[in-house]
Amino acid sequence: MSRKVTDNTVANQPTRHLRTIIIGSGFAGLGLAIRLTQQGREDFLVLERGSDVGGTWRDNTYPGAACDVPSHLYSYSFALNPEWSRSFSRQEEIQAYIKSVADKYNVRDKHLFDCDVTGARWNAETTQWEVTTNKGDFTADTVVSAVGALCEPNLPDIKGINSFAGEFFHSARWNHDSDLAGKRVAVIGTGASAIQIVPAIAGSVEHLDVYQRTAPWLLPRMDRPYLLPERLAFKHIPGVQRLSRAAIYAARETQVVGLAKFPPLMRGFEALAKAKLAREIRDPELRKKVTPNFRIGCKRMLISNEYYPALDRDNVDVVTDGIAEIRANSIVTKDGTEREVDAIVVATGFHVTDSPAYETIYGRDGRSLTEVFDDIGQQGYKGSAIANFPNMFFLLGPNVGLGHTSMVYMIESQINYIADALATFENRGLRTVEVRRSTQDAYNSALQKKLTKSVWSTGGCASWYLDKHGNNTTLWPDFTFEFRRITRKFDVAAYDTTTAADASARPDLKVVTAP
Ligand code: NAP
Repeated sequence: MSRKVTDNTVANQPTRHLRTIIIGSGFAGLGLAIRLTQQGREDFLVLERGSDVGGTWRDNTYPGAACDVPSHLYSYSFALNPEWSRSFSRQEEIQAYIKSVADKYNVRDKHLFDCDVTGARWNAETTQWEVTTNKGDFTADTVVSAVGALCEPNLPDIKGINSFAGEFFHSARWNHDSDLAGKRVAVIGTGASAIQIVPAIAGSVEHLDVYQRTAPWLLPRMDRPYLLPERLAFKHIPGVQRLSRAAIYAARETQVVGLAKFPPLMRGFEALAKAKLAREIRDPELRKKVTPNFRIGCKRMLISNEYYPALDRDNVDVVTDGIAEIRANSIVTKDGTEREVDAIVVATGFHVTDSPAYETIYGRDGRSLTEVFDDIGQQGYKGSAIANFPNMFFLLGPNVGLGHTSMVYMIESQINYIADALATFENRGLRTVEVRRSTQDAYNSALQKKLTKSVWSTGGCASWYLDKHGNNTTLWPDFTFEFRRITRKFDVAAYDTTTAADASARPDLKVVTAP
């Protein structure tokens, strides 16, 4: 039976010890919490800085927020939802789904909400993680980071940005108290978030300036509401929903051939995108401005039927001159033009390869994740473990990201792997488990070799997929079923392990080789 963890119980404890701490309760952390509960594991806790489950779907409440992957695929395989109202669900519906799954599987009691993890430090003597939070200190035998890559908003480093006197907010921290209607608004950025925000607000603001640094590629959004007979079929006819899910999965997986293996094939998508652009933007000058100059797929392919028509409106301007400075009431571009605005929305993405969270995690040799990544780049093993960080696992770690299909599929693969790792840890009486650096290096060499021929490396763009060393440390370079295959079982042989017996025999915890 689960024990309720309330603020009071935690506040009154000096340091609480847990078998496992999970940090973050988006799709990933919540999914793992459900799996551990199903395995009958009790002694774990999810520390979540927000006041509810949902992660990115809780935080991104900007107007127009919706998913780019059809919901029948973008959902847990163990919690299909026949009630999706349309093919590409909006944020509110996805967040309601995630909350309903947390309720259905009764895992809310395993969460400590509004709990901000401020640090995690490996203690080699106790072989435990020491986790500090705004709600007290914890120790844990194992920690799973499930914070995700898209959680720390990235504010642009623009001269004078702090002197702006009007309303100012990031897309992922939308200020719902602010009414943009009738105002002069600037949106900085033209990524996946911006292209949803722009059409959602263009009709109600007085004027909208869209500051574009790089024109994105856009494809049609095949979105439609599900008809009642379809929803009834999903609900009542066995297999229909699974079949629909499988069909979406298979169709999307074919994109991997062009994206990762043979980029010239992406020309077909490019032709489709160009035809759309020609159809939806009347003004030839504007058409030229928003025509991308890199191979499609190099940056995430965006889907929208409303973005180009919004740019084509009389009250919307696309500004491409580059921002020189922000002043109290205006934005000045590099050509010297000053445009007055009442509000600025920055849709400038997230700290993906340089997350501030990395600075607070200290591993075996006393170095932080930031320092380790500075040295070797953001590398890990199967996106789930990182050398120098014993007894720590990662959901959504290095090189598990995707642009073409459902991240929930990758997350569930990792849940298989990490749940099996935690069970192995227990069953074998392990004290420490750390991926071998040589295994991690070999894994990454193979990964980077595959990536060299991908469109993300050859497509002629700068993207957040690449780290400061120029390596793609965010994306999975192959079919997703291949990732599912390599994460099916925890491969303990890839790890250095120690047991309690080693600890008593050898104070330095000598390494035992896995059988
Ligand atoms: P993003 O893709 O990183 O886009 C950021 C945008 O801001 C880019 O256009 C970038 O220009 C621009 N930018 C960044 N710094 C700038 C600066 N200093 N000056 C001017 N422009 C600047 O961020 P996002 O749109 O929030 O999307 C992030 C990810 O979230 C997506 O790739 C996707 O994985 C996910 N997402 C998904 C959905 C969905 O499913 N519908 C929706 C939103 C987000 P450059 O291109 O020149 O760098």
